Amino acid sequence: SDEADILEMKDARYLMHPFTDARANLQGGGMVIDRGEGVFVYDSAGKKYLEAVAGLWSVGLGFSERRLIDAAVRQMEKLPYYHTFTGKSHAPQIELAARLVEMAPVPMSKAFFTNSGSEANDTAIKMIWYRSNALGETKRKKIISRKRGYHGITIASASLTGIPVDHQSFDLPLPGFLHVTAPHYYREGLEGESGDAFSTRLVNEIEALIVAEGPETIAAFFAEPVMGAGGVIVPPQGYWEKLQPVLKKYGIILVADEVICGFGRTGRMFGSQTFDIRPDMMILSKQLSSSYLPISAILMNDMVFEPIADESHAIGAFAHGFTNGGNPTAAAVAIEVLNIMEERDLMTHVSDVSVHFQARLRALGASSTLVGEARGVGLIGALELVMDKATRSSSLEVGQLAKYAFGLLQNKGVIARAMGDTLAFSPPLIITREQVDMIFDGVADVLAQMEQEISS
Ligand code: PLP
Repeated sequence: SDEADILEMKDARYLMHPFTDARANLQGGGMVIDRGEGVFVYDSAGKKYLEAVAGLWSVGLGFSERRLIDAAVRQMEKLPYYHTFTGKSHAPQIELAARLVEMAPVPMSKAFFTNSGSEANDTAIKMIWYRSNALGETKRKKIISRKRGYHGITIASASLTGIPVDHQSFDLPLPGFLHVTAPHYYREGLEGESGDAFSTRLVNEIEALIVAEGPETIAAFFAEPVMGAGGVIVPPQGYWEKLQPVLKKYGIILVADEVICGFGRTGRMFGSQTFDIRPDMMILSKQLSSSYLPISAILMNDMVFEPIADESHAIGAFAHGFTNGGNPTAAAVAIEVLNIMEERDLMTHVSDVSVHFQARLRALGASSTLVGEARGVGLIGALELVMDKATRSSSLEVGQLAKYAFGLLQNKGVIARAMGDTLAFSPPLIITREQVDMIFDGVADVLAQMEQEISS
């Protein structure tokens, strides 16, 4: 339509996009998404797509949840904005803090609010550094995270991020940010090594790094329970179990970045529950508000909070906070998300539907010659594409296979996500069994087409 053409021209003329080849966008061609309904979105030409990644792994309740809109309007009418700096507070932020602390899978003490996953991770780093200073452990500032981990894009959170492409162009990571091997058994496991032996080797690598750097210099370990943007990496048997005592031994704070895993993605409310992780801090965002408004939170236990609060060590106020951190309207929406999840017993739905989701995903792994590994847990999954299953390699440039599959799939009305040669899926949590079939029927067709094109 004319309207769609004009939008596309204005996009090319005026808009710079995140994570996008800026020069290529000057030619236009971006898909303009116009409206959403349940698990579906519609582009400006009216074509319907099943959003199989829930936007950016985040729209847990789908694209048309009336109750979230109503909650936002009610709060905006009453008090659209206030802050919680220096002696002020407001009900939505207080209530949300109480809900999150009470529902945390391990004892947590306090919640602090920010606007994005990146801001929350940056804030956690500042809390950790502040705490080390308050304790007089001024050398304890280094942070360990993992290659292929994704923790955001601000300067400190990007330094946590271990996807190399994020670093080169920005002169990152900052000094003191260390990266260890990703727990990806399929790619990193040695010939003949069991998953459990692989976990032991990785944890030994982490301990060796801690010892080499000096344990008194290591402040924290940041990790996603399941890596999302790094390619949906589910850690093998024993990884979390062996890792946690090592961190404890050296007094290292464990931060679970639950930005993707949180609020049901892995089949339990938190990824920390699915993998029996006992973090000292949790980073929450995305599905917390179903992405209807920006909000994120840091939960911390007393081990983290007490030194920050301790008057005898006080360096002054914890001088950190954002104008819109925990904005009342965003907090009201988040509270309504939690109400809806509870009232509709969404976790039971996720456990039920994810059995089918994982079965269909894994069936493709077995049946398609192009799938090297099918992996996932709960309602997150991925297919790693290869040209040759035996050598686990692609003779093409890395990313070409998944990019091609992604395009074909999108033409069929399913939006997935391509990361390297991995195709990822994390649909809205409200997805039905029939809609799961729509995704994987589409993927099966695409893989069959590609197999045929390759063999001919
Ligand atoms: N942490 C994880 C695990 C994420 O997946 C993301 C974003 O995808 C972030 C942090 C950063 O969140 P944001 O994009 O809101 O800054």
